[in-house]
Amino acid sequence: MESEAIKTSLLERKAELESRVERTHKHTYHRDEPVSPNFNEQVKQTENDELVRALEAEAKEEIAQINNALHRIEEDVYELCAHCGEEIAAQRLQAIPYTDSCIECAE
Ligand SMILES: [Zn+2]
Repeated sequence: MESEAIKTSLLERKAELESRVERTHKHTYHRDEPVSPNFNEQVKQTENDELVRALEAEAKEEIAQINNALHRIEEDVYELCAHCGEEIAAQRLQAIPYTDSCIECAE
């Protein structure tokens, strides 16, 4: 695979995740509307906040993995498994572009 193309798609994905984190962050921490006096509404808001935080954590985790993959491209080891040094199957990299392990090591 063309590493420039991979890099571009990783950077696009990263930008998308970063804007998602920014949005959810605003949603959770800089909410405009006051907390609802209605108890059911409060519960709903709390549940929603938890979901939003989980999504934010997930996005941040993926950003970290993408940064790692970008670093691996720079080092020219992108297609090599970080654990056993074997080549990672192209199909696998297509499915999970930020993976750093071959299918054997991932399992
Ligand atoms: Zn491996």
